[in-house]
Amino acid sequence: MGKPTGFMEFRRVNESYAPVEQRVKNYHEFITRLTDAGAKQQGARCMDCGIPFCNNGCPVNNIIPDWNDLVYRGEWKQALEVLHSTNNFPEVTGRICPAPCEAACTLNINNEPVGIKSIEHAIIDKGGENGWVVPQPAKKKTGKKIAVVGSGPAGLAAAQQLARVGHSVTVFEKNNRIGGLLRYGIPDFKLDKRLIDWRMAQLAAEGVKFQTNTFVGKDAPGKGIANDAKKVVSPKELQKEFDAVILAGGAEQPRDLPVPGRELKGVHYALEFLIPQNKEVAGDAKNPINVAGKHVVVIGGGDTGSDCVGTSNRHGAASITQIEVMPRAPDQENGPLTWPNWPLKLRTSSSHEEGCERDWAISTKEFIGENGVLKAIKAVRVEFKDGKMNEVAGSEFELKADFVFLAMGFTNPLAQVLDAFGVEKDARGNAKASTEGAGCYQTSVKKVFAAGDMRRGQSLVVWAIREGRQAARAVDEYLMGSSVLPR
Ligand SMILES: Cc1cc2nc3c(=O)[nH]c(=O)nc-3n(C[C@H](O)[C@H](O)[C@H](O)COP(=O)(O)OP(=O)(O)OC[C@H]3O[C@@H](n4cnc5c(N)ncnc54)[C@H](O)[C@@H]3O)c2cc1C
Ligand code: SF4
Repeated sequence: MGKPTGFMEFRRVNESYAPVEQRVKNYHEFITRLTDAGAKQQGARCMDCGIPFCNNGCPVNNIIPDWNDLVYRGEWKQALEVLHSTNNFPEVTGRICPAPCEAACTLNINNEPVGIKSIEHAIIDKGGENGWVVPQPAKKKTGKKIAVVGSGPAGLAAAQQLARVGHSVTVFEKNNRIGGLLRYGIPDFKLDKRLIDWRMAQLAAEGVKFQTNTFVGKDAPGKGIANDAKKVVSPKELQKEFDAVILAGGAEQPRDLPVPGRELKGVHYALEFLIPQNKEVAGDAKNPINVAGKHVVVIGGGDTGSDCVGTSNRHGAASITQIEVMPRAPDQENGPLTWPNWPLKLRTSSSHEEGCERDWAISTKEFIGENGVLKAIKAVRVEFKDGKMNEVAGSEFELKADFVFLAMGFTNPLAQVLDAFGVEKDARGNAKASTEGAGCYQTSVKKVFAAGDMRRGQSLVVWAIREGRQAARAVDEYLMGSSVLPR
């Protein structure tokens, strides 16, 4: 423990953001990480708790008190080693994780948790700048070949772990660039895509091969699903050529809103807007959806919706309204009731701060159009009683809308991919596989494993990394009889 009295001496200091009027002019990241001295002081606030709730609250079980202490003592390189021992991609989680570790931190009982995420961000960025992040190729090859389907955080974490113990790994991706939702989904202003290129170079130097524009399956995905594939590889071919296959294709099926007018021009799934924007920023074609000077309604209150808000602000929308069917959460969590679990409270993102009207307990009844083009939405206020949603009589209203983005989550992975492999699904349509005990992460099909959103349903990057790492260990054990990879 760095400074026994640190938590009493120093207040929590958050990372700073560029001013709104400056940052909405471009797609650059706008968070300035803590200075070395600032991170040291924040690290000093950690109490090195006998039971580190932060460590349990973190899905990858980051060894947080150790790196807090190392940063406090100026041992940055060692802090980076500890950080990397549990997390392949801290440059991602240090930027976009909602930080369940901070919700679980003992100091959060009075609302001032240790700034764990900002310290993580400082460690990995300093490591990158100093050239401390180097390839760790395996000393000996095993001769085993593994295919990973999907290049999101689950697939990449699995690929890196497996390559490091000597397996030959090929990652298949249907889109034109590697990264899954990190690349195509999450906007550049939240996560600079050069970080993915940087990490991919490390994976490539460790022996991981990438095959983009390649769809694994039979029938190509339908409308609303990004697919740049120029080549199709059948599950049979993959099963024949490789000793094991990991399905890490995410949960790509977006939830629809099949109310009258859904077919109108201007009603889109959120990713039909966000992915082309990522591509435009990367230098590909212009986003065909341009909301400059238009009225935008975002339906759905989560991360995806918030990213539509931030992107619409950068386009210069005339107005942005985000509506949500659930009631408004309380401004403050009920700490004594919820700690150390993830609390229910109103979350205001940096995108919301950039300008957006928000409203809750609203259900959309109809999209109204003229000559096939969206003009407004018809909605109604709702209330919840005994677990049931009821419309409030006489509360119907119209909201001007040139564009609607449906950001109501993702229901399941692409069924045609799982069906092509003949993999058994769980009740929610995810690939069925357990996470504990013998045979964990294995699907019902021999030598086919599943991890990340494809197995657990839509979730978080940090959970995808965890599952990728654990599935890698399961595959290694399956192929070699035992594994030195962490559980
Ligand atoms: C807009 C948006 C914003 C988000 N923001 C955050 C955030 O701020 N913080 C956070 O923690 N989480 C966030 N999430 C959730 C997070 O991105 C996901 O939980 C995470 O990326 C899941 O990782 P994954 O590796 O399982 O799958 P994905 O990242 O979805 O990657 C799956 C990849 O597999 C490919 N694929 C699928 N099927 C095939 C096939 N048959 N053949 C070849 N390739 C295939 C897909 O093209 C895709 O590239 C966000 C999600 C969205 C949609
Ligand atoms: S719970 Fe908070 S104070 Fe305790 S060890 Fe973790 S980060 Fe430090």
